[in-house]
Amino acid sequence: MYNVAQVIDEKCVAKKGCRLCIMYCPEANCLDLNTTKMVAEVNIGRCKGCELCVVVCNAAKHNAIEMQAVSATGQLMSHKGESAGLGQAYQG
Ligand code: SF4
Ligand code: SF4
Repeated sequence: MYNVAQVIDEKCVAKKGCRLCIMYCPEANCLDLNTTKMVAEVNIGRCKGCELCVVVCNAAKHNAIEMQAVSATGQLMSHKGESAGLGQAYQG
C-alpha cells in the first residue's frame, strides 16, 4: 500500500486560475488541469506520493488535495484514514 494525491473537486479553485499544484508537481504528466471539470486532476499511475502538491495547495489555504492510500494493484482504497504512513510511499 502506498499513498497518492487526490484533488477534492469542490475545494479546487483552478477555475479561478490557480495552477499551483500543477506547476510544482515534479512528475511529468502527473498533475494536470481537467479542462472539462476545470479542476486539477492527479494521474494516480504516475503520482509518487511526494506530497509537494498538498504543501503548496495548503500554503495557499485551498486545502484541496489529500493523500489517499492505494493498494499494490493501484486501486484507490475507499476508507479514509487507511493511508500509509509517511516514508512508506514507495513500498507498494
Ligand atoms: S493548488 Fe489546490 S486549488 Fe490550486 S489548482 Fe491545485 S488542487 Fe486546485
Ligand atoms: S504527491 Fe507529488 S507526484 Fe503526486 S501529484 Fe502531488 S506533487 Fe505530483
